[in-house]
Amino acid sequence: SDTFKLVSRKWKVKPTTIDLGDGITIGEGQLAIMAGPCSIESEAQVNSIVTHLKENGVRIMRGGVFKPRSSPYTFRGMGIEGLEMFYKICQENGIKIITEVMQVSQIEPMYPYVDVFQVGARNTQNFNLLDELGKIDKPVMIKRGISGTIDELLQSAEYVFSGGNEKILLCERGIRTYETASRNTLDLNAVPLLKEKTHLPVIVDPSHGIGLRAYIEPMALAAVMAGADGIIYEAHEKPEEAASDGQQTLNFAESRALVKKLNRTFALK
Ligand code: PEP
Ligand code: MN
Repeated sequence: SDTFKLVSRKWKVKPTTIDLGDGITIGEGQLAIMAGPCSIESEAQVNSIVTHLKENGVRIMRGGVFKPRSSPYTFRGMGIEGLEMFYKICQENGIKIITEVMQVSQIEPMYPYVDVFQVGARNTQNFNLLDELGKIDKPVMIKRGISGTIDELLQSAEYVFSGGNEKILLCERGIRTYETASRNTLDLNAVPLLKEKTHLPVIVDPSHGIGLRAYIEPMALAAVMAGADGIIYEAHEKPEEAASDGQQTLNFAESRALVKKLNRTFALK
């Protein structure tokens, strides 16, 4: 029997688009650009990044307040107070936010301050979390598991969809392979494969995918040509001082150049 059904192209041929309100939609015929820091750090930081995004026509900001860190001794996020501050500033500026939810108990307190819930790579197969996100009416972006297959990602999406929430984005963010020259191996094969297998929008995260600032741009542009519906990348006013993932975070000049090239590349398709 099928391991996923409702998220498949066989079930629904027409591509799904996700409406975030205020004229912001994700999927078919447009390229979604989401950018921001790995971690939300301060009000000054959010203000500075919001200004940068507005100057460049980016309408969705990313940023974690609950951070899944490999070491417990590193910065783990500002928590719910940070999220309220992040959301308030973005709302005042017409920016939508995407942020990671790590566990079921966080959904309810986060709910009023989130436009898109992100399920991180370490939680792709947290089936209890997926079940609960299936009961809400806000969009969910599910990242591919660190060692997860494409079909496992689709089965995770099936949990949310079959629970009643059809607002799902999928995200290729690199997988763990034998390669050590890059943080992860961005699997661009996943983009055309997912586009064929599912009607859901496919987003690519080149920041976590390769993990090296210098190569975010070429991988992002390659992802657009491979058919991605959107790109999510890390940007910060001072990447070298970022609380997390600075090594894969673009500064504003790099981010500005990338947005221009992304839009030009998408227009070529
Ligand atoms: C992130 O987006 O900062 C993040 C932790 O991503 P991932 O779950 O893909 O590692
Ligand atoms: Mn990160």
